[in-house]
Amino acid sequence: MPELPEVETVKRTLNQLVQGKHIIDVTVRLPRIIQRPDDAEAFAFMLKGHTIQKVERRGKFLRIMLDGLVLVSHLRMEGRYGLYRKEEPIELHTHVVFHFDDGTELRYKDVRQFGTMHIFAAGEEFNHPPLLKLGYEPLDDTFTLGAFKDMLVTKKTKIKVVLLNQAYVVGLGNIYVDEALHRAGIHPERAANQLSDQETEALHRSIISTLSEAVEAGGSSIKSYVNGQGEAGRFQHSLRVYGRKNEPCDQCGQAIVKTVVGGRGTHFCPDCQSLKQHIDV
Ligand SMILES: [Zn+2]
Repeated sequence: MPELPEVETVKRTLNQLVQGKHIIDVTVRLPRIIQRPDDAEAFAFMLKGHTIQKVERRGKFLRIMLDGLVLVSHLRMEGRYGLYRKEEPIELHTHVVFHFDDGTELRYKDVRQFGTMHIFAAGEEFNHPPLLKLGYEPLDDTFTLGAFKDMLVTKKTKIKVVLLNQAYVVGLGNIYVDEALHRAGIHPERAANQLSDQETEALHRSIISTLSEAVEAGGSSIKSYVNGQGEAGRFQHSLRVYGRKNEPCDQCGQAIVKTVVGGRGTHFCPDCQSLKQHIDV
């Protein structure tokens, strides 16, 4: 599933590809992708005549700004956008097509069909699901060390489970949680409220550095992720634990272990990430 760096990359690519394009029609081929309004024809009717001003991101959601309206799009497992000329044949698994007045089309493809689209009046999107109750943007100034400490102190659950919860911090999924915890030297099953100040600080720093570096690299191409121009990301080459079961840890040489935490496959180094609290003497 695309996480913050991948969605950020899609956002940047879409801004290059479709900013300023004028929608003359929309074809919905798979109505269940459309969550709001609850009718695919109404969805198409609402978007007709609108211009794409800009694409923004909130957590793992894209916000496609359309003078007065906003289209909130979640790619879920394998959703992806691509720009095509209208003469090009429609590929398999294309579920929504935005037709522009310049003869191009933005097509949404989704093999797994889990993606969602919602339309709201601009600004209203934050008052309703799915954007209601989302946590801190980890790359914003609002995600301070103090805020992170305050958040963890009340959570007795495993740190990995806390970091995956989008109501606390957005954008982190299985890949970047495992990577950030390894960088900070913290075992994924440690209780969130048991981390020392030093560990909390290391984790706060590693969340920001891991995500920033991954954004810089255009995300990680794991499974089918590519950006809106069909280009792969590069961060998968920098992963230290995710997908590296039994390979030696870059830091200590110990074999990376894969286990299950909170129902999710979890990679960590048993040597660098001890279950006991790390205390510097
Ligand atoms: Zn190690």
